[in-house]
Amino acid sequence: MRVYNFSAGPATMPLEVLERAQSELLDWHGSGMSVMEMSHRSKEFVGIAEAAEARLRSLLHVPEEYAVLFLQGGATGQFSAVPLNLAGPGATAAYVNTGSWSTKAIAEARRYLEVEVVADEKESGYATVPAEGSLQVPRDAAYLHYTLNETIGGVEFPYVPDAGGVPLVTDASSTILSRPLDVSRFGVIYAGAQKNLGPAGLTLVIVRRDLLGRAGDGTPVPTVLDWAAMDAAGSMLNTPPTLAWYLVGLVLEWVEAQGGLTAMAERNRAKADLLYGAIDSSGFYRNPVDPAARSWMNVPFLVPDPALEKPFLAAAADAGLSGLGGHRSVGGMRASLYNAMPLEGVQALVDLMTDFENKNG
Ligand SMILES: *Cc1c(COP(=O)(O)O)cnc(C)c1O
Repeated sequence: MRVYNFSAGPATMPLEVLERAQSELLDWHGSGMSVMEMSHRSKEFVGIAEAAEARLRSLLHVPEEYAVLFLQGGATGQFSAVPLNLAGPGATAAYVNTGSWSTKAIAEARRYLEVEVVADEKESGYATVPAEGSLQVPRDAAYLHYTLNETIGGVEFPYVPDAGGVPLVTDASSTILSRPLDVSRFGVIYAGAQKNLGPAGLTLVIVRRDLLGRAGDGTPVPTVLDWAAMDAAGSMLNTPPTLAWYLVGLVLEWVEAQGGLTAMAERNRAKADLLYGAIDSSGFYRNPVDPAARSWMNVPFLVPDPALEKPFLAAAADAGLSGLGGHRSVGGMRASLYNAMPLEGVQALVDLMTDFENKNG
């Protein structure tokens, strides 16, 4: 029996996608072989790859002047790729710190250039985002980087920051495709696939073409992280993660069939409202995040006594609800409500929470 899987990533996938992959696993469209056995240079796989890119462009309305890259190395790889591709040595980049993933991106960037942290939400315990319009970005910064959705803290920007004329870069790993996004506001958007896009192993990078080759000579960018080189090679400078690319294509087809990003946004908003509503009205559970910056995708919550966490997770497991333990760095509970989590799953969680509160409150 399949459980409702609230894991933060790798995460639940749409059942329809898994069933389709299963039905095509041994013989893809009469090719006589599995996608994982195909040459990445074959006509069949190139078709799969191009269809996935076309679907992504159409769903997100990616403007013509942006390259869409399918890379490896995860979002963590892009923590290095961003400074390496966008700035030469001695440059300064501006970063916003809203929690765990921003902190990691900043630490990695510091290995390559000067980082100026233009906002740090430490004082709120990383439960907020900076007020809109408050960022002072140095004019000579190579770019401004922020984390669109902090997967661990459950903090999401409800607005696109003004980068003051420098390229805006965002880590959208845990929120991409959860709702519409105005790509034209950004220089670079990157995301690991294993939250909302598909299985682990693929990293999506959307980069405005005039930013390719920004680092100039003198910065030795590892070839597999070099956006310009990857763009020139159609993301096939070396062997790409073919199976993950194919599965992401199936997920994109599924999102399309659900009605695209506007429909996804409505569903995700309803799921988040249901869970936050249950937390706020309980007097037993608590979410620490500023309501204006609450993530639709990752909802951390606490019980009144940490000793109740283990029994809660055990009761959840008995009810067929998995992946609800908070990140190892923060504890508590966390429910990830990515696109593939149905409303029924969230309702099952809310029912369990009510039942647990009645027994332990
Ligand atoms: C999961 C995640 C990462 C790390 O992704 P990897 O693919 O493991 O490198 C980085 N940033 C955010 C916001 C994430 O959710």
